Amino acid sequence: MEMQPVIMKILTQAVEKNRVAHAYLFEGKKGTGKKEVGLYFAKMLFCESLIHGHIPCEQCIQCKRINHGNHPDIHIMEPEGLSIKIEQIRSLQQEFAKKGVESSKKFYMIVHADKMTRSAANSLLKFLEEPAANTTAILLTENIGQILPTILSRCQQLSFQPLQTKELIHNLQINGIEGDRARLLANMTNNVEDALQLNEDEWLLQGIKLVLKLYEALSSNNLMDTLLFLQNEWLAHFKDRKQVEMGLDMLLFIYRDILYTQLENDDELIFVSQKSVYESYGLKVTKNELFNNMMTIFEAKKRLEANVNSSLLMEQLIIKLQEGLSFV
Ligand SMILES: [Zn+2]
Repeated sequence: MEMQPVIMKILTQAVEKNRVAHAYLFEGKKGTGKKEVGLYFAKMLFCESLIHGHIPCEQCIQCKRINHGNHPDIHIMEPEGLSIKIEQIRSLQQEFAKKGVESSKKFYMIVHADKMTRSAANSLLKFLEEPAANTTAILLTENIGQILPTILSRCQQLSFQPLQTKELIHNLQINGIEGDRARLLANMTNNVEDALQLNEDEWLLQGIKLVLKLYEALSSNNLMDTLLFLQNEWLAHFKDRKQVEMGLDMLLFIYRDILYTQLENDDELIFVSQKSVYESYGLKVTKNELFNNMMTIFEAKKRLEANVNSSLLMEQLIIKLQEGLSFV
């Protein structure tokens, strides 16, 4: 598990030293890997042949059942509708009154624990106050302020930090997204869920091509052709404000890439496939010009927020980028 190294270290030590708490509260923003870490932790607890004493083997029946979401002693509860109701907590308690089916252990995870109704939370509290042996609870929340203090005091609290771009790229690669696209998505979002959703978007994929084309047109120094391309193709795709903003972000990534190419810092590149193009263009511009271009795109983004006409704004931007001018 590459995500959340600090939390993984705490959980690993708990398993290795046989000091697993009865209840944990995983708190942190959406997409920080709370559920993934929770399920991985379940495998650490249930796996029949841990590697080096803490890495799930992914091969045994326990690991496989957890991966397939059908382990009889593992329960994952999510809100039904808008809330987690007392009936849900009660049926969980009944389930746990029975002996473990596959093992003597039990594990449950409550997703969006802040969505428990007051009666559900009080019912869970009783459960947490009298923890059964070999039972591990994990509560997940994006809003720790909404969790009852009495519940908080029964849980070991672990705070999930937003993923670093590199962690996010790695996570996207595990999900089968590779290369330029993984790096772009990781830079456009700050969490796995949003990145995966964006990846499904055909609009974005087409958009990347158009932004690269816009940049090619800009570097050709033919203002008329560039404006025609802008009107006929680019603006036909990047229509509303949000879309133009994403287009500007991608254009910014290209200029940033060229700057990194000049600095020979290839590790930071997003569109690695464009490296040879960057190298030839990079010879023609100074770092100062690149920096000014980036500032000009930033200014355009600000203007966009102020409700200016986006087609007019883009035309001005193209002219300024080609003349090396800024908005101010
Ligand atoms: Zn295993």
